[in-house]
Amino acid sequence: MEVFKKAANKILSLFQSTAFNVVVLFLLTISITIISYGRVKPEIPATYPEIIPHLKGEFRFAGDQVSIRVSDTLLSRRMLVFAYDEEGNQFLIAKPIYEKTITITKDDEADFKVFISAGGNIEGHEVLKGEGDSQPQTNFYRLLLDAQEKGYKYGVQECFYPMEQRCADVCPVKDTSLFTFHVFEDGRIGPTIETWRCPRSGICIHYCPQGIIRNVAERIIKEGKGPGADEDGVFEEQR
Ligand code: SF4
Repeated sequence: MEVFKKAANKILSLFQSTAFNVVVLFLLTISITIISYGRVKPEIPATYPEIIPHLKGEFRFAGDQVSIRVSDTLLSRRMLVFAYDEEGNQFLIAKPIYEKTITITKDDEADFKVFISAGGNIEGHEVLKGEGDSQPQTNFYRLLLDAQEKGYKYGVQECFYPMEQRCADVCPVKDTSLFTFHVFEDGRIGPTIETWRCPRSGICIHYCPQGIIRNVAERIIKEGKGPGADEDGVFEEQR
């Protein structure tokens, strides 16, 4: 009995000791900090991504320049203009958009070339304007005129693939990318997203430098389902 009494007194004096109270207070503070951080840490919206509808370009060939009126501007206010050659390869130039207009002048040189197979697959690319510029320049204005005269494809393209592919790089699904890049019927290259495998991290939406990946939920709230979308809000070219 005396032993129990002594043990009880020891425990009581431990609870009353300053060191013990300091330790308890410290642990309590740490726990509250961890729980609060979990609650207030920045959230990446958990929603499905989708590619914005393609911006149309209205080409006007006049004098020694081509002006292209685009149907809207992008977050980055720059865009690619492309023209195909007789071998079916795509040449591109990056251009700023001023007041919804892009201007191609007669001295503009192509920035890069994408090799496309007869079956319409991307086979590689080449940077045409590089440091040192040892390569011969490829006049983009001439290519664009040829494309228009000879009926090759030309147009505007929002996506900067294959020069960069940040959406695919940041996507947490790494086994086979959710993002696959295609050559569309009109000659553009851009991504399609396998939405059904998407973990909805929202990271691609934040990282696309062109701002062409958006949040489905935001679009539905702002615009309803949007023109061209089916009853699930999915656009034709994303199906
Ligand atoms: S991040 Fe945007 S611009 Fe870059 S490859 Fe993906 S869709 Fe294209």
